[in-house]
Amino acid sequence: MARVRTVVGRAILPGEGEPQPVTLHIDEAGKISSVLPGNQAGSSSDVLCIPDDCVLLPGLVDCHVHLNEPGRTSWEGFQTGTLAAVSGGVTTLIDMPLNSIPPTTTVENLRIKREAAKRVGVSSDLGFWGGIIPGNEGDLVPLLKEGVKGFKCFLIESGVDEFPHVEEEHLVRACNALEGTDALILFHAELGPHDHELVPGNDSQYSTFLESRPASLELSALELILRLARRFPSLRFHIVHLSTAEALPIIREARRTGVTNLTVETCFHYLILRAEDIPANATQFKCCPPIREEANRLAICDAVLDGTIDFVVSDHSPCVAELKRGDFMSAWGGISGLGLGLSLLWTDMGERAGLGRLVELLSMAQARQVKLEGVKGALQEGADADFVVFAPEATFEVTLTGLRFKNKVSPYIGRSLRGFVRQTYLRGERAWDAATGTCATDGRLL
Ligand SMILES: [Zn+2]
Repeated sequence: MARVRTVVGRAILPGEGEPQPVTLHIDEAGKISSVLPGNQAGSSSDVLCIPDDCVLLPGLVDCHVHLNEPGRTSWEGFQTGTLAAVSGGVTTLIDMPLNSIPPTTTVENLRIKREAAKRVGVSSDLGFWGGIIPGNEGDLVPLLKEGVKGFKCFLIESGVDEFPHVEEEHLVRACNALEGTDALILFHAELGPHDHELVPGNDSQYSTFLESRPASLELSALELILRLARRFPSLRFHIVHLSTAEALPIIREARRTGVTNLTVETCFHYLILRAEDIPANATQFKCCPPIREEANRLAICDAVLDGTIDFVVSDHSPCVAELKRGDFMSAWGGISGLGLGLSLLWTDMGERAGLGRLVELLSMAQARQVKLEGVKGALQEGADADFVVFAPEATFEVTLTGLRFKNKVSPYIGRSLRGFVRQTYLRGERAWDAATGTCATDGRLL
């Protein structure tokens, strides 16, 4: 695929709320060599002109996806997952250390995953998180040296046997092993006694599941994470997929009193979906921690806009359709929606947040988190020429055939969304074209 060398159109630049007319020049390596105001294409012949009804956005970054290859490739895969990503304007993915087999808990396992990705090819760029499990503290610094972006752990059972959860003693050992590295540790932040069998109720009703994963589990986890953050100030701590709004005042107070090494993400589903709307046995809505009620959703939205929550991810966590059958207590927990995030957020929060702010949450804020600032997530000189041709006023309906990930089970099917990704470019080369449904596989491993 030929590389575009000049792009002219209205673009969201770093720190800008509204699109500005610009000319981007792209060098032979696929990096942005200059960003000039207005149309300065001159006599260049290979100019990509962005149509008037479209806006140029930086390629988006999604720091929380489960691509599950190798080992559970029937659930997702590097090919289909990265295709779904570019179809939604996401040019950089960071893959979670589970639910692939093996999990990314040793250097050898990381090598196996990278080899698998190289074998099939990827449409977006792809980085990897490592994992902390009991007893693998000796693997952490070597994994960091091999390029993992940080380490995910579970404080409660993860759902798969090969990725056991950790206790505080394991975490202290892991933190001691990582001291001096400024490594990032990610927490599935639910902690505490819970037993599905003890919850009385009708398992086909969402309320039964919701009661089995109360906010108190997230609050107990937060207490432990803050203890570690204070004890290990040189390390960085991150809460993945925050669901409960009850954690927000505690996070704000911790930051006010000097905790500077804690970041927080939430997911599209906690900003968009409400417990009250979930029908009986609609297990496509099941995830952990759970989608909560409307008042909680509104508070989480506010926290994204006021900066308490640092960014928004998909937590695309699919499985085969069979595992989603049955009731809420037996079905697999995980929501699929990779590729829909930008349109979901623009539809629901666009008016309040503005395009520039949403793009920041979906690109630069996450590039910064994984130390790709200046390379990914911004239309600026020196960055990779990853960009999205986005039609903000176009509308579409989410249909089965429009989904690009492998198992087309999603709570968003049937929703009407505003804002459509027409094309996605990676290093100046077209990675996705919605008009033809074609993609390239020029993604690189980060
Ligand atoms: Zn996840």
